[in-house]
Amino acid sequence: MFEKILIANRGEIALRILRACREMGIKTVAVHSEADTEAKYVKLADESVCIGPAASGQSYLNVPRIIAAAEVTDAEAIHPGYGFLSENADFAERVESSGFVFIGPRPETIRLMGDKVSAKQAMLEAGVPCVPGSGGALPDDPKEIVKIARAIGYPVIIKAAGGGGGRGMRVVHSEGALLSSVTTTRTEAGAAFNNPTVYMEKFLENPRHVEIQVLADQHGNAIYLGERDCSMQRRHQKVIEEAPAPGIDRKVIAKVGQACVDACKRIKYRGAGTFEFLYENGQFFFIEMNTRVQVEHPVTEMVTGIDIVQEQIRVAANLQLRYKQKEVELKGHAIECRINAEDPYKFTPSPGKILTWHTPGGPGIRVDSHVYAGYTVPPHYDSMIGKVIAYGDTRDQAIRRLRIALSEMVVEGIKTNIPLHQDLLHDANFMQGGTSIHYLEHRLAATKD
Ligand code: ADP
Repeated sequence: MFEKILIANRGEIALRILRACREMGIKTVAVHSEADTEAKYVKLADESVCIGPAASGQSYLNVPRIIAAAEVTDAEAIHPGYGFLSENADFAERVESSGFVFIGPRPETIRLMGDKVSAKQAMLEAGVPCVPGSGGALPDDPKEIVKIARAIGYPVIIKAAGGGGGRGMRVVHSEGALLSSVTTTRTEAGAAFNNPTVYMEKFLENPRHVEIQVLADQHGNAIYLGERDCSMQRRHQKVIEEAPAPGIDRKVIAKVGQACVDACKRIKYRGAGTFEFLYENGQFFFIEMNTRVQVEHPVTEMVTGIDIVQEQIRVAANLQLRYKQKEVELKGHAIECRINAEDPYKFTPSPGKILTWHTPGGPGIRVDSHVYAGYTVPPHYDSMIGKVIAYGDTRDQAIRRLRIALSEMVVEGIKTNIPLHQDLLHDANFMQGGTSIHYLEHRLAATKD
């Protein structure tokens, strides 16, 4: 096992990885920007290195600085967390060519799955069901594009091959808007992702977002840890996640889970990963794979009892997975609310100093957060300041515990989206379970004054 790991991330996930390392007796190096010098997890780490100014381009995305920090501290492996460099194949390659272990898949796997066109191709070959679409990049010829859209049938969605974070997508409802939408998406994708390639999919009108968590080691073993429902989204960003997905036949989950395991073996996947699907009318349609730990991993940890971050580290150290598929048992129900520093209804970011921070507790409650009273939420990064996760024997109990937890929580000094979560946890349709990915947006539009 490694003696020392460098954590190339910030915020709650840096603390989450740090905790996994401490439990495993591994020393840690926290790298941080000038804006995060005072963060408590930086102090909890065995060593820390400032890698640049607040702007992430000069710090958390600064590859030479991160590699240099690993060199001076003698770290053996680098955990990239999520976001930032976690899905950057060039970074993974640089880490490995510099003599460190990248805690994640092989660079070529990241590259394959990072391009959504090649990812879909690989999944089709592996027998994973995909959203019907262009079956590759869109050609330049406008006539061909029109033909493809007609064959798929409107509405269609134009997506950037290199897209991520809910950006680089455009829905087209009729032929009149098709070509201009393709052009705009191409231009945006070129600017945002340095890759103008776009493809087309059938736009599913009322799907749910259901994803499969996988773990694979370097000895040919792969397992799936059930599914998560992340349909409660705003602007393609997840707001609430839960495991298991309410009301889906376990046999259907087992089938798609097994297809994901087969795909992992086929592409020689290494580490933790997530196959994201849209689920509609009893069918799963693959949209993309995330080759990293996800924000919502705790709900899976709560229902399986498996520590996903520790398994990532073990796999990177070339150990075998500790679990066989038949030992993976989903028990109870877990729901996570992402707590953001933002106006709960206008969604404008609300950085600044937290004056009061009182977190909830009690049976089944887990709070993953790096903040504390007196902490200043910097304006430079994502607005998520933590996650509150509730576990219950049943979904109903998890909801009740989460409601109580949020009612106990006190955050003063900044605005948070806790009031929105409280509304949603009392929403009749959410309580019933199985709402679609458009539910939250529709609800917000309907309640706007
Ligand atoms: P990203 O990498 O930016 O997260 P995804 O391909 O995972 O992009 O899509 C993000 C979200 O966009 C999905 O969760 C879903 O809400 C919506 N979406 C993507 N593809 C489709 C589609 N074919 N039909 C309907 N909604 C879609």
